[in-house]
Amino acid sequence: MMCSLLRTRGNICYNLYMTDCIFCKIISGEIKSQIIYEDDYCVAFKDLNPQAPTHILIVPKKHIENIATASEDDALILGKLQLAAAKIAKENNIKDFRLVANNGKGAGQSVMHLHYHLMAGRRFLWPAG
Ligand code: 5GP
Ligand code: ZN
Repeated sequence: MMCSLLRTRGNICYNLYMTDCIFCKIISGEIKSQIIYEDDYCVAFKDLNPQAPTHILIVPKKHIENIATASEDDALILGKLQLAAAKIAKENNIKDFRLVANNGKGAGQSVMHLHYHLMAGRRFLWPAG
């Protein structure tokens, strides 16, 4: 896997960028997506294949594979992702939502760039399927 510096729209962001990662390409603008939120640490965009009326992906600008491979150095980023979820929900008048991170292929992770699914607008079952 090749990596290089990531140059985001507007700001220059010196983060790890994987050239064969679809989310790195969305973050860099190489692949077009409906970006609905961006800060120094993360971007959020609508899921291509929504599983709820609101289904937003919140993704760190730094390529981290998943929660299991995050390091102590990533603690700020991990916190910022959850705070971004709260901001996005508030901005969209969403009170109740589900925030999910699939960790590893066996748990349903298909894109190996850490992301939270923010889902709302329907009833969610528990335990999760
Ligand atoms: P995972 O299965 O890894 O937890 O979630 C990956 C999510 O990324 C899936 O819900 C899938 O629909 C979404 N996804 C995959 N490729 C793209 C893409 O190119 N654009 C967008 N917006 N979402 C994508
Ligand atoms: Zn990536």
